[in-house]
Amino acid sequence: MSAIQCPKCHAAERQIKDGYTAAGSQRFRCRLCGCRYTPLPKEHGYDEEVRMQALRLHLEGLSLRAISRVLDVNHQTAANWINGYVNHLPIGIPDSILELIELDGLL
Ligand SMILES: [Zn+2]
Repeated sequence: MSAIQCPKCHAAERQIKDGYTAAGSQRFRCRLCGCRYTPLPKEHGYDEEVRMQALRLHLEGLSLRAISRVLDVNHQTAANWINGYVNHLPIGIPDSILELIELDGLL
């Protein structure tokens, strides 16, 4: 994961949270040059809610292709999300889910 960086002066330090945009994205402010920006604009990132939905659908047994259709996201994007969550699960993943992932060709 890349650090928050000011798009103007490219400082990675002293970047503070500065509320949210109308679209709900976290906004930041650079305390060095004072510019305000959104590190992950909507076109580059999706809401946490959509990601969680992808994972939920995956756990329900939907295929990646179905999930990407339902949520209207790129197939590879959905795969990355699910992979990311799987890698961060604190405890073992049930075999049934591992099988699903293998069937989808993620591992
Ligand atoms: Zn700056």
